[in-house]
Amino acid sequence: MIPGWVRDELEALRASDSYRTLRPLEGPCGPRVRVAGREMLCFSSNDYLGLAADPRLAEGAARAAREWGAGAGASRLITGTLDLHAQLEQDLARLKGCEAAVLFSSGYQANLGVLTALGRGGVILSDELNHASIVDGCRLARARVEVYRHADPADLEQRLRAHAGPSRKVVVTDGVFSMDGDLAPLPEILEVAGRHGAIVVVDDAHATGVVGNGRGTAHHFGIRHEGLVVMGTLGKALGAFGAFVAGPRAVRDLLVNRARSLIYTTAIPPPVLGAARAALEVLQAEPDRIERLAAHTRRLRQGLRQAGFPVPDLPTPIVPVILGGNRAALTWSEKLWDRGFWVHPIRPPTVPEGTSRLRITVSSEHDPADIDALTEALAELLRSDPAARQAPEAHP
Ligand SMILES: *Cc1c(COP(=O)(O)O)cnc(C)c1O
Repeated sequence: MIPGWVRDELEALRASDSYRTLRPLEGPCGPRVRVAGREMLCFSSNDYLGLAADPRLAEGAARAAREWGAGAGASRLITGTLDLHAQLEQDLARLKGCEAAVLFSSGYQANLGVLTALGRGGVILSDELNHASIVDGCRLARARVEVYRHADPADLEQRLRAHAGPSRKVVVTDGVFSMDGDLAPLPEILEVAGRHGAIVVVDDAHATGVVGNGRGTAHHFGIRHEGLVVMGTLGKALGAFGAFVAGPRAVRDLLVNRARSLIYTTAIPPPVLGAARAALEVLQAEPDRIERLAAHTRRLRQGLRQAGFPVPDLPTPIVPVILGGNRAALTWSEKLWDRGFWVHPIRPPTVPEGTSRLRITVSSEHDPADIDALTEALAELLRSDPAARQAPEAHP
């Protein structure tokens, strides 16, 4: 017997247009996907450089599987650390311009690990629009958590001032915000944090492979900062799976000793490591992918602006069309679906109440004509539903 509350909760989700389902692809991830028996233009994945289904990554995975097997056999601290882990960690540290890096099984786990290890018993200052995995990391750290106003170094400073004293302080922010596509004001955050003796952790899940020549938020701002701790994922622009934290060697060593989401889980398996390694090689061999992504980003943002959407000129391929309520986001998404575009609706708790939206993402492998077609379809929807024009701007 299923307890009644399970059905009640599902019913409540349906009643508030918050219910979610899983939609299986019938082929590989890419700018065009097969789903529900149709070919759709996909503008919702995080596969920004079109690497997820690149044959070179698949071959990297296959080769690693042939040479090293399917599994790592243990957690990292026991017998699960392979040369493959060590090599990839070195490559990732180099990509980020950091002393050292350590792998985690996912970005979610990386954020849990870094925040619990660095924040334990201290104060964590977290941007209000940070990713759910950061929110969960804050909760798990049993730290005092101060949520500061989005991308607001002045509010951050005020809160840091209230915690003057010897306790540990960690400031954590998305580098590129996952649902808004804006950038954290990292230079100002580092300055404020520096004045108050706080460590800064930047989540580069959507920045790695995308901004700063693919090297992330710090590089985008031209910052070289020895103390910065950077989390990045291998599952988005890098097309594979897994994640890492890069930073000073001492931070890496502390994570190896203290990050429970790293210690108490089986090491990343060889095929995943082989794919990630191949992704870094493609990134290096084909810098034009990042340039093409930037061009497509400009094209999409310009097109939407001309169509009347309040879209700022930013260097990130994440463009929200904020519609307000859940129903509006679902309806717009369905209308686009009928026209052959898959643009996923994003609703609370992923975004704040009243800011349900379409989250559009482009990839370097989209066809410019496909981007124009999407822009035209959205322009048409706006003409038929001008209420959307009054939707709040993401963050003016
Ligand atoms: C996706 C995402 C993560 C989680 O990374 P995974 O490797 O997918 O677990 C963490 N932070 C942000 C900002 C993200 O968008």
